[in-house]
Amino acid sequence: MPELPEVESVRRQLDPELTGRRVVSVWWDPHPEQRFSDVALLEGRRILAVTRRGKYLVCPLDEDLELVLHLGMTGSFSFRPADAYARARFALDDGRELVFRDPRRFGRVSVVEAGEYDAIPTLAALGPEPLSDDFDPATFAEALRRSKTTVKAALLGQRLVAGVGNIYADEALWRTRIHPTSRRVGHDRATALHAAIRDVLRESIEREGTTFRDYQMVNGESGRNADFLSAYGQEGRPCARCGTAMRKTVVAQRGTTYCPSCQRV
Ligand SMILES: [Zn+2]
Repeated sequence: MPELPEVESVRRQLDPELTGRRVVSVWWDPHPEQRFSDVALLEGRRILAVTRRGKYLVCPLDEDLELVLHLGMTGSFSFRPADAYARARFALDDGRELVFRDPRRFGRVSVVEAGEYDAIPTLAALGPEPLSDDFDPATFAEALRRSKTTVKAALLGQRLVAGVGNIYADEALWRTRIHPTSRRVGHDRATALHAAIRDVLRESIEREGTTFRDYQMVNGESGRNADFLSAYGQEGRPCARCGTAMRKTVVAQRGTTYCPSCQRV
C-alpha cells in the first residue's frame, strides 16, 4: 500500500500538471463499493494546488471546495488512455484526460467543502505531518508514553504522526533498535525514533518511494527506495548491523520484520 513517500512522489508529479487547470467534465465508475462521493461537483471547478495530508492528496478548488484523493491499495494516476481498471476520468481544459486507475477499488475520490472532513474520519483524525514543525519530539515522546498499545501499533494508528505505514514503521524501529512490540519507549528512545521517522521518510521521498506491486507514479515509473531497506522485506537476511537473521512476525495485524538481537523491548 502506498505510504507517505509514495503519495508525496505522486503529488510532486501531479501538482505542475493540475494546478491552474479547470476540470471540464468527469466520468466515474458507479460501482457501489467504491469510496466516491460528490464527484460531480468537480465539473467546471479550477484546481488551485495539489497538496498532501498523510497519505491523502488534497486539492483546493475554487468555490471553496476540495478534491480529496486516496490511492487505497492499488490506485494510480496517469494521462495514458483509460483501460478496464479506470475508475474515474477527469477531462481538463487543456484537452488532456487524467485517469484514476484502481483495480481493487480501495481508493477514494471525494469533493468536500474545504476542511470539512466529517465524511472522511481517517483524514479528520490524522496526527501531525511528520516533516512539518507540528511534529514535535517532546509531544511525540509524551504521546508514546501514554499510549497503551505496542509502539508499532501506535505508529500505524496515524494519530501520533500521520502517514507512517508498515514499511517506514519497520525501518524507523530498526534504526533506533526498538522492538516493534515494545510498550515502554522512554524519552531518549522516543526522541531518536522521532528523528528516524523523519529520516526514513525524507530519504525515501528523495528516491521517489519504494517499488512494490501496484505503486506507480504519474509517469508510470516507481521509486528506487527498495534497495535501501534494512528491515521491511528482509526476513531471513542478516541484520545489516549485527548479522543476526532478521525475523518476521505479526504486530498490529501487519507483517513486521525486525532484528531479534539488536532491537530491544
Ligand atoms: Zn541486529
